[in-house]
Amino acid sequence: MHNSSHIKSKRLSKSLWRLAAGLLIAQGVVWSSPVVAKPNDPNTLTYGELFKEVDRGTVSKVELDPATKVAKVTVTDGSADKKVRNKEVLLLEDNSELFSKLNTKGVEISIQRSADKNAIFGLLGNVLLLVFVITVLSAIIRRSGGAGGQAMSFGKSRARFQMQAKTGVMFDDVAGIEEAKEELQEIVTFLQQPERFTSVGAKIPKGVLLVGSPGTGKTLMAKAIAGEAGVPFFSISGSEFVEMFVGVGASRVRDLFKKAKENAPCLVFIDEIDAVGRQRGVGIGGGNDEREQTLNQLLTEMDGFEGNNGVIIIAATNRADVLDTALLRPGRFDRQVQVDPPDYKGRLAILNVHIRDKKIDPNLSLEAVARRTTGFTGADLANLLNEAAIFTARRHKSAITITEIDDAIDRVMAGMEGKVVMDGKFKRMTAYHEIGHALLITLLKEHDPLQKVTVLPRGQAIGLTWSMPNEENGLESRAKLRSMITVCLGGRAAEEIVFGKDEVDSGASSDIQKLTNIARSMVTQVGMSELGLVAMNTERQEYSETIAAQIDREVRKIVKECYQQALELLQTHRPLMDLLADILVDRETIDGEEFRQIVDRETGRKETPQTKPVLAGS
Ligand code: ADP
Ligand code: ZN
Repeated sequence: MHNSSHIKSKRLSKSLWRLAAGLLIAQGVVWSSPVVAKPNDPNTLTYGELFKEVDRGTVSKVELDPATKVAKVTVTDGSADKKVRNKEVLLLEDNSELFSKLNTKGVEISIQRSADKNAIFGLLGNVLLLVFVITVLSAIIRRSGGAGGQAMSFGKSRARFQMQAKTGVMFDDVAGIEEAKEELQEIVTFLQQPERFTSVGAKIPKGVLLVGSPGTGKTLMAKAIAGEAGVPFFSISGSEFVEMFVGVGASRVRDLFKKAKENAPCLVFIDEIDAVGRQRGVGIGGGNDEREQTLNQLLTEMDGFEGNNGVIIIAATNRADVLDTALLRPGRFDRQVQVDPPDYKGRLAILNVHIRDKKIDPNLSLEAVARRTTGFTGADLANLLNEAAIFTARRHKSAITITEIDDAIDRVMAGMEGKVVMDGKFKRMTAYHEIGHALLITLLKEHDPLQKVTVLPRGQAIGLTWSMPNEENGLESRAKLRSMITVCLGGRAAEEIVFGKDEVDSGASSDIQKLTNIARSMVTQVGMSELGLVAMNTERQEYSETIAAQIDREVRKIVKECYQQALELLQTHRPLMDLLADILVDRETIDGEEFRQIVDRETGRKETPQTKPVLAGS
């Protein structure tokens, strides 16, 4: 699973490393003469060898000399006596990858200047020193570079804001997020006729926070508001600030608001505000980093203008919970609008928006496409139709048919179909794992029908089994929830049956996470356990110790029973499971229809009627 918060939290330190790399190079350029690499010299390592050594864990320390661009590396010998050697490595122009690798491997890093070797720097040689050097040098560079100057650009991007006089986007172009649209309709009126509000003493909001996952249409919505109101659209992305020099972000914010005020009424859009707006005082470098300065400037700007000067700020994030509370105070982003991923109706509406400029076959049912794309965001759907159009053109067809949609869904759902690089045993194991899920899906009549099963690696997941849920939401029956848990356990159960308990690998962790969630919500929210019909949602801390223990017991009981059921069903159908695994290993993908036919044929059962589609898990 993709974890964006984790990635974001790493951004800051990444940018520092990049800065460090940049500074070392800058110094190198000014003060050093190039060093010639010495191949075959036992006292040197190539850059690539250094990476390998770091990976092998033999490197304990790296001393960087920015003047010569040479790093002295302390390597432990492979020999029995574990001899420690010092080797030299010539650094590259951009060493950020190396730095982050050293950082993650916990290798000690220090900075050395050839001039005063060991005197001061050697003693302090550690990461803290590096941070200190960065701070001091960046301050110097900033001063010499002039206020807001671009000094030197080490990162690839410097945040600039964009201005569009007319976005050309209207509410009609945004679909499937009707509630958000309704809430934001008012903002259009604020921008168009502020007098209507100010004349009766109503305060116009300054900031609105759009909260929702990437691709749900937040940017599009902001553009539509500007488009409907007929005002200019200014935009900037928070993530770009953290790549910049201290002070540049803040001055960029100042410029942005200056321009915005000159162009009022207008709309200012700040994407990924969490990149600058996270809780303060938790980053590296204490209370004085780029992000904080940018955030402070933003707060100052927002406080500095009156609510009725016609500038409305819309910010987007997928996590409101990490934002600094100062941002959410009255007079700042005090309105939050949730932008949810689209449901069936929403997806249908979005599809209808995006087919406007495309030719589609009259036999193509968009309802069927919407049914099959649960979990797709607006961006995914736009992408889907675009891919389908590309397939259509490539096949010299005149209109998009279901074939192109099928291929495009495959592509969008799973990224590019990767080549199977796994070896025989791993492939078999993956096949059994997926067949374990798929066979249980097909055998358990309460479960939604199987759509597809594959062993092809796609993105993070190796092998996927899809099923098609019947209902979008609403309470699921107890039997259905149990069948979902049993199916989740099917992968592991199959592995255990075929390869034995010891061989079961850790690939099932997302299955376990998922089934634990289902089981927990059965116990705590839906009241489907001996704990009765009490809705015990919310946080664990609110339960007493006894209740928490009871919940755990109930969860474990459900999971145990389901695992037993999974094992029994699969053991009973062992020959069928082997047959299906063979086919899957051979062909790598089996679709739901054919899968069911095989199961029906082999078990002599009558086929069950099938319905609608989405992604169930791995
Ligand atoms: P976000 O800002 O939430 O990450 P975007 O607004 O950038 O998402 O969406 C990217 C593209 O996906 C849009 O330009 C549009 O083509 C399509 N899209 C996303 N959501 C919707 C929607 N609700 N209605 C129509 N198109 C959408
Ligand atoms: Zn699985």
